[in-house]
Amino acid sequence: MDATGVLIVGGGLAAQRCAETLRARGYEGAIRIVCGEAEPPYDRPPLSKELLGGSVSAGEVAYRPREWYDDNAVELLLGRRARSLHPSNRSVDLEDGEALSYEKLLIATGSHARRLPVLDGFDNVHALRTLEDARCLHAQLKPGARLAVVGAGFIGQEVAATARGLGVEVTIIEALDVPLVPILGQRVGSWFAQLHAEEGVRLMLSARLEGARGNGRVEELVLADGRRVGCDTVVVGIGVAPAVGWLHGTSLEGGPVRTDAAGRTALPDVFAAGDAAAPFEPRFGQYAHTEHWGAAARQGAAAAQAMLGIYPGTPPLPSFWSDQYGLRIQYVGHADRASDTVIEGDPDARDFAALFSREGAPVAALAVGRPRTIAQMRRRIDEAYWNKGKETEARAA
Ligand code: FAD
Repeated sequence: MDATGVLIVGGGLAAQRCAETLRARGYEGAIRIVCGEAEPPYDRPPLSKELLGGSVSAGEVAYRPREWYDDNAVELLLGRRARSLHPSNRSVDLEDGEALSYEKLLIATGSHARRLPVLDGFDNVHALRTLEDARCLHAQLKPGARLAVVGAGFIGQEVAATARGLGVEVTIIEALDVPLVPILGQRVGSWFAQLHAEEGVRLMLSARLEGARGNGRVEELVLADGRRVGCDTVVVGIGVAPAVGWLHGTSLEGGPVRTDAAGRTALPDVFAAGDAAAPFEPRFGQYAHTEHWGAAARQGAAAAQAMLGIYPGTPPLPSFWSDQYGLRIQYVGHADRASDTVIEGDPDARDFAALFSREGAPVAALAVGRPRTIAQMRRRIDEAYWNKGKETEARAA
């Protein structure tokens, strides 16, 4: 690679792992990380958990101390955003007008939180994606304050759980009749609803937000059925979208960037990793987009290996965790592919595993307080996929 070296656009987990892996594997060329945020790469999961709860400080979520970047000759271009990619002359234009050339490029711009236009312009409406978002929200979570969380996905649920721990009155407003039902099904989704109800959260299901009342600050949320929810602070947790708008006009525009299992895109020397990417999933022959920490870490490292011509190996099954009310919830696999769910253990005692299967073969598992089950299920699900692949090949032969 020549002097322009590796350019990494986005400065989150995938970016960090790519830079670390390049150096660990002996790459000596230039590495630059361009990131729209002012902070060096930091860990996002604590933003809805320990950091929001106040038990961890902003300084503790940085992946590396500032000196690490100097010591490893990784140049940080912070507070600067990419505006466009020009693959034919191997350059990226920044919003401030500078053009950066690259020998190899990693797209690692992650996700941004989806907005609710009816809540635009109100001061007390928050998303939770960045350290700055978490700082602002934490300042509002005083005992007795009334928090409305729009959306009962994992981020909304974690915010609710952390806020309850701070003595905040929490209402969750969710459009579905059961939280997380499209991914985890009725039984597991209902368990999450029960968990929050037991912890004192007011859960409003099948509830559609129509608007808000207040002068500069939301005082009441208005639901489509006429109900009103008084609040001091609102968090919108309705999911994320890949931050790939800057790829407009290239063949990669339009959604998470498709890659092979090693992170290579359809453009020469352009790689993608993390929330912005949709790598090929060899288990079922489709591109699979995830928004999980483990995938971003692994894909960032895999892209670095692929840049150096090293085979990064088969990607593991997707997995994530969530911490709520002192419980560790873990998940592995693809529950959206399941047709059956079996529960082992005692959900009422908050100690159980949900085993998801399709045509008798395991496809996913969710466990509460059972880390060993997840490790076992990871092996069983993987074996089932590869054995099925072999059976299909044998039938075709
Ligand atoms: P990001 O971490 O999103 O980093 C991308 C960076 O690129 C950002 O700094 C962004 O500002 C920057 N950027 C965007 N556009 C541009 C541009 N045009 N130019 C320059 N820079 C740009 N996962 C789990 O598995 N378990 C959890 O418990 C969990 N909890 C989470 C809690 C919260 C509050 C959040 C927000 C996420 C959580 N996740 C969790 C998800 C996990 O953190 C993400 O999957 C992971 O951070 C994705 O990493 P990434 O490097 O792809 O992108």
